[in-house]
Amino acid sequence: MSKHAMEGCPRCGQLFTCKLNASLKCDCNQIVLTPSEMQYIRDISTMDYDSGCLCLNCLQDLQQEARAFA
Ligand SMILES: [Zn+2]
Repeated sequence: MSKHAMEGCPRCGQLFTCKLNASLKCDCNQIVLTPSEMQYIRDISTMDYDSGCLCLNCLQDLQQEARAFA
């Protein structure tokens, strides 16, 4: 299995599509993050999941975490 084949969210396994070629439609753009929340999520996702891309549920989840953490 190719490492680049995104079959689902690396965090929860839920299938989702990262629309890299249509970034305005990507899940990442449906959630408004403060710079510090974004930084927190980016750190987590690159460290733990080797990917900058998570599904919307996980983004919201991590946003809550970031807020609790801050
Ligand atoms: Zn997820």
